[in-house]
Amino acid sequence: HEFISRVGGDEFVIVTTSSQCVILSERLIQSLYAPFNINNEQFTLGVSIGIAIAPQDGENFEELFKNADTAMYVAKSSGKNRYAFYTPSMTDEILSTTLLDKEIKQGIEEEQFVLYYQPLVDLSSDEITGVEVLVRWEHPEKGLIFPNEFIPRAEETHLIIPLGELILQKAFKQLIEWKEKGIFKGIMAVNISSVQIEQEEFIEKIEALCRTLNVDTSKVELEVTESFIMKNPKKSAQTLQKLENLGFNIAVDDFGTGYSSLSYLKTFPIHKLKIDRSFIQDLPNDKDDRAIVRAIISLAKNLELEVLAEGVETNEQKEFLIENWCDSAQGYLFAKPMST
Ligand code: C2E
Ligand code: CA
Ligand code: CA
Repeated sequence: HEFISRVGGDEFVIVTTSSQCVILSERLIQSLYAPFNINNEQFTLGVSIGIAIAPQDGENFEELFKNADTAMYVAKSSGKNRYAFYTPSMTDEILSTTLLDKEIKQGIEEEQFVLYYQPLVDLSSDEITGVEVLVRWEHPEKGLIFPNEFIPRAEETHLIIPLGELILQKAFKQLIEWKEKGIFKGIMAVNISSVQIEQEEFIEKIEALCRTLNVDTSKVELEVTESFIMKNPKKSAQTLQKLENLGFNIAVDDFGTGYSSLSYLKTFPIHKLKIDRSFIQDLPNDKDDRAIVRAIISLAKNLELEVLAEGVETNEQKEFLIENWCDSAQGYLFAKPMST
């Protein structure tokens, strides 16, 4: 006494009794998960299930269907092969993320995103050797918004691709302006999202942009994450090699937080390790952090990489880093990110 129907694409509707729905969902997930063969190739199917129950989740088919669909969307985004019961808060969540998506899109078109710059400081001379570009959103109603509130969503929706291009464009123009005015001779470090660098055309695009604007790539450092490197080491090695051939410097951001295999460090074209702030913040008191930071610095030295400490806020932290031969640092102790 179940009713099943295909509603289009890869979506199906099953109507059943509420006492059956969990058992049925688990059975479906398990049976579809079993691998099967077509022409000697093995396939597996994944399924995401959303459940809405009458009458509390809807009193007619349209309402039940819409809410089941919302629950399915939530199940899917929490990983494949899951089921989820509809709750009213899911609707709020989805409404607010679609609003955010629309606003990000509009923000890109209207160039509401602005760049802040934080100095990178050489610890042996106290000189500023470069700046890191950090994006901010000047939202017309909500004011200044920090990247943690929109970058993760922009990555999920791939809006980080046009946003990242806008950031690169603005950063390069600023670098050239500073060069022409003779204000600043250091390097400019730009964060590159995995989603951005993994797209097929990334190299061509950045190369074209540099050619159009006549950018000195040896003054540009691209900050990539360990997770990008580790996800597909063979492919990322090729990508980074091409970027190095174009003259860019490569830095590994948030170093120490990824699921590291250190072997990549010796074969990849990497110039700098940026020690994550989480290892710096409890220096010099925390014994474990002292050991970790010393280890990363000596690893970098042995591999002839530059090493920078992120998030330096106190003189004690700075002293510890100098005593342990860290090359450079960045943090509120020296300067906060600033607009031009
Ligand atoms: P991140 O790359 O690790 O950048 C460093 C973050 O630490 C920045 O936060 C900076 O403002 C903050 N910071 C610097 N010094 C200190 C300090 O002494 N103490 C503390 N507590 N914090 C400090 P922000 O600007 O909010 O950026 C957060 C993250 O958003 C960045 O982390 C980066 O992952 C991402 N992000 C920022 N701008 C961009 C961008 O243009 N593109 C992409 N893809 N990601 C970006
Ligand atoms: Ca960074
Ligand atoms: Ca970082």
